[in-house]
Amino acid sequence: MSTTLHIDWTRCDGRGLCTELLSGVLDRDDWGYPVARGKLGRERTDVPIRDGDREAAQEAVSLCPVLALSLQERGVRMAAVEGTRRRG
Ligand code: SF4
Repeated sequence: MSTTLHIDWTRCDGRGLCTELLSGVLDRDDWGYPVARGKLGRERTDVPIRDGDREAAQEAVSLCPVLALSLQERGVRMAAVEGTRRRG
């Protein structure tokens, strides 16, 4: 199954919690916002997730303090998982 992590930069506060959880997938840009490693354009914020990273991606979605992350399965957006409101 094809899973994509979407990053909403309009909500993100750029503190980088998700980049720590998904360090092999995400990097931070010059302003601290999470981006897909080695990608350009739209692929920077719609990040393909391999099966091995799926659990960490779900954790990042649930822990993002501003609900800036969501997972999509083949174009269908999954409900964001409300997590604790720790700072990202
Ligand atoms: S965890 Fe959320 S707020 Fe923090 S950097 Fe990632 S997307 Fe932005």
